[in-house]
Amino acid sequence: MKVIDVHTHLSSVDLMPERWIEHEYKICMDLCRNMLPAGVPLPSKKALIEGGGVDGLINDMDKFGINISFVMDSPKSSFYGRRTLSGKLVNQMEIEEWVNQCVAKYPDRLKGIGALDFTRGEEAIEDMERYADEFGFIGLKPYPPRGFYPNDPKIYPIYKRAQELGMHIQFHLGGVPPGRMKYCQPIYLDDVATDFPELKIIALHMGMPHVEEVALIAAHNPNILVDISGVTLDMRYRALHSMAYLITHVPNQVVLGTDWPCLNTNSAAFGSHVVNPVKWVNELQTPQILSELGMPQFTDEIKRKILGKNIAEFLKL
Ligand SMILES: [Zn+2]
Repeated sequence: MKVIDVHTHLSSVDLMPERWIEHEYKICMDLCRNMLPAGVPLPSKKALIEGGGVDGLINDMDKFGINISFVMDSPKSSFYGRRTLSGKLVNQMEIEEWVNQCVAKYPDRLKGIGALDFTRGEEAIEDMERYADEFGFIGLKPYPPRGFYPNDPKIYPIYKRAQELGMHIQFHLGGVPPGRMKYCQPIYLDDVATDFPELKIIALHMGMPHVEEVALIAAHNPNILVDISGVTLDMRYRALHSMAYLITHVPNQVVLGTDWPCLNTNSAAFGSHVVNPVKWVNELQTPQILSELGMPQFTDEIKRKILGKNIAEFLKL
């Protein structure tokens, strides 16, 4: 079985908007601060971004035992204007061309996901077609906090075309703005999955803080998978509860997502304090006291499903 990570980002000081870098650095540091032991310095912006390039990703995949990663830039980058740290102006398509070059460097290890602004109507469909035909990208990532509800009929033509092209769609759900969180609730995916039953969807971050909601919507819609990115920061009660809820309701629809290079997964930036997400899944265990209260066991088979079997079957990889 291949270990597959459905959710990673690539970064580049030459291409990503300066304000994106500022913002992502702040988010990443806010999330990671509590996980680092007292006295350990936070990585610099330079270390985080430079360690987040494609060679750093392959290096960490080898270290963690991940065979294949889905890679994208950030669907948020169009939020932040076009000026990069080096002062250059870039557009989204130039960033996607660079993602494509990164994938081409490691074709057996990486699969491309295109960031797509769903508010751009017909132009978005043209970009999607280029992603599929020219780049061979296997999926799309919109960013609803830009200002749209995923079930808005105005964007249904995009779903129709994605379904025809066989591209799956990854939805950012839950917190961590920019933008408004109201657009990130899992409930809207119920309409999309029901109206496009052949469209494959991955609900990211377990819909946090709406984990129960995302699990029940996925149980109702076999074309939705749920990635676990964001939970691998700790092994305490909340993470165990979320994982237990998912494996109880949708054991065949939970998949590994790391959000690399954030969340302490970038070893160039976090050094010996890096979190190995594969090890984290393999070490999942139900404490005796919670087992007595009815929490299910994390069996070896469940772990195999999360680490690769579910996504391989879903996308026929
Ligand atoms: Zn992400």
